[in-house]
Amino acid sequence: MIKQAVILAGGKGTRLRSRLKDRPKPLVDILGVSLLERQILALKKNSIKKILLLVNYKYEEIVSFCKKNKYWDLDINIKLDEDGKVGTAGALLSSINFLDDIFLVVYGDTLFNIDIERFQKFHNLNKADITLYLHPNDHPYDSDLVEINDQNRVTKFHNYPHNENFFYPNLVNAAFYVINKESIVDINLEIGEFDLAKHLFPKLIYKLKIIGYNSSEYIKDCGTPERLDKCEFDLKNGLVENSSLKLKQKAVFIDRDGTINFENGFISSPKQIKLYNFVASSIFNLKKEGFLVFLITNQPVVARGECSIETLNQIHWKIEKSLSKSKTFFDKIYYCPHHPDSGFPGEVKYLKIKCNCRKPENGMIEKAIKEYNIDREKSWFIGDSTADLAASFKSKVKSILVKTGNAGRDNKYNYKPNYVSENLEEASKLIINRQQ
Ligand SMILES: [Zn+2]
Repeated sequence: MIKQAVILAGGKGTRLRSRLKDRPKPLVDILGVSLLERQILALKKNSIKKILLLVNYKYEEIVSFCKKNKYWDLDINIKLDEDGKVGTAGALLSSINFLDDIFLVVYGDTLFNIDIERFQKFHNLNKADITLYLHPNDHPYDSDLVEINDQNRVTKFHNYPHNENFFYPNLVNAAFYVINKESIVDINLEIGEFDLAKHLFPKLIYKLKIIGYNSSEYIKDCGTPERLDKCEFDLKNGLVENSSLKLKQKAVFIDRDGTINFENGFISSPKQIKLYNFVASSIFNLKKEGFLVFLITNQPVVARGECSIETLNQIHWKIEKSLSKSKTFFDKIYYCPHHPDSGFPGEVKYLKIKCNCRKPENGMIEKAIKEYNIDREKSWFIGDSTADLAASFKSKVKSILVKTGNAGRDNKYNYKPNYVSENLEEASKLIINRQQ
C-alpha cells in the first residue's frame, strides 16, 4: 500500500485573498475546518501515514498549525520550498530525496474524497509509472483535457483553449497522481518547464507509461471564492462524503442507438448522430439525484471495419460535447467493438470473436459494477431492445424498455422489462420517483 503523500501547497492564494484574512492559503476555512486539515484527514482515512508538505508563503504559521494539531498522529514533514518560482514540477523534483518509492501527489487547493487503495490497485494492475486521476466534468470546454487509449494509456494532452470545430474527450486532469519515484529520478527540467501537467507529463508520455484512471469520486479545486462556495455547498449536501468508491454507488446504465439518439442504420460517422432533445436534461436530473450514469453500447461497426476506434471516439466525443452544453455528462462510456459472425469484406479479424461484453451478454455492466462499486439493487438499465433487457436481467439490475428506437420489437431474446416508458425522459422520471 502507498504510504506517502506530497502536498504541493506553495501558492500565495492571491485569488482567495478576500477569504483568507491574512492566513496562508492552505489554512483557508471551509465550513469551520481548514482545507489543509480536510486534506490531511482524507489522506489519513485512506491509510496514508506520511505527508511531505511543500509550503512557501507563511511557512511558520503552517508549522504552528500542524504542531497545534499534534500532526494528526502522522509523520508530517514540512519543507520550505525556498524558491516559489519553480512550480509544481520543480518543487517535486527538488524534494526527490524525501520521497518513498511510490507516492501520491496532491495539490494544495483541492478538496477530495478518493479511495486511494482502489486508485493504487489500478496503477499496479496497469504497471504504470505514473497514473493520473481523471474525471469528466460539467465544463470541459474550458478545462485541460486528456486523451487515453483503450488500454488506459495517456496518449495526448489537449490544453485549454480548445478549437470549437473539433471534438474532444470529456476527461479532465484533476491534479491527483500516483508516481513511482524510479520513473522521475533522472529528470532534469529544462528552462521554462515548471508545471507537472502542462510541461512535464506531455513530454514524458513518449518515455514513460502514463496511465489515466477515470473515476467519479469528488475532487474539486477551491482556489477562488466562487469555487470555494461550490465546495461548501457540496460538503453540506453530502456530495463529498458519498462520492467515495469505498461506498456502494447507485447507477443508471443507458443504451445508445434508439435510446439516446435517433436510430439511423449503423452509425459510422459523427455526422449521423442526432440526440433526442430530452437526453441532456434526463441525464442531468439523474445525476442530481446521485446516480452515476453510464452509456453501454454494442458497436459491431468496428469489427465489421465500417468505423475505426478513432471515429467511434469522435462519435462519442460529439455526444459528450453536446451534453456539456447542458452541464452534464456520462460518467463513462462502455462500448463493445466485437461481432461474432465472420465473412464481411473489410472486417477486423481480431475483433471477430464471441465476447462476453456484447449485449445480450452483460460484460460491460459487470465491468462498470466492479470499477465503480455499484449497488445492483439500486441500479437500472434503460434500453430499447431485448438484448438490453437480457443484459440487465443477467446483472440483476431493474430494466426499463423505452418505446423509441427498436421499442423491443426486435424480439430476439425472451426477456421482459420491469417497466415500459415512452422514452428516456419518462424512464428517468420513473426512476427518480420509484427511489423515494
Ligand atoms: Zn465485446
